[in-house]
Amino acid sequence: MSDELEHKHEVEVKQREGRQKLPDDVKDILKEGGMMDEKGKLKLKGVSPKMLKKMKQEYVECPVLKSDIHFVQCFVCKNFQSRVMGKVLCKGDPL
Ligand code: SF4
Repeated sequence: MSDELEHKHEVEVKQREGRQKLPDDVKDILKEGGMMDEKGKLKLKGVSPKMLKKMKQEYVECPVLKSDIHFVQCFVCKNFQSRVMGKVLCKGDPL
């Protein structure tokens, strides 16, 4: 067996201008996980403010949910394995 993470999809991370709004249900998940404070400020471990700013402009065309997903949401998704060279390695399990 290899040490490589099993993943089904490699999903390209794309960018758009300006900040995108996170859906409320995603915010709730982030808050529950302690990744967002009550004011809606993101607190992701190991992510610098500069990276965070960039992340807020990023999205993926999610092959599981079949829609455009905010990268922050993808980052905390249970299918998220890692991000390598501008691509998300996604487990691809049904959500
Ligand atoms: S990790 Fe989750 S949100 Fe990201 S592409 Fe995979 S299923 Fe979609």
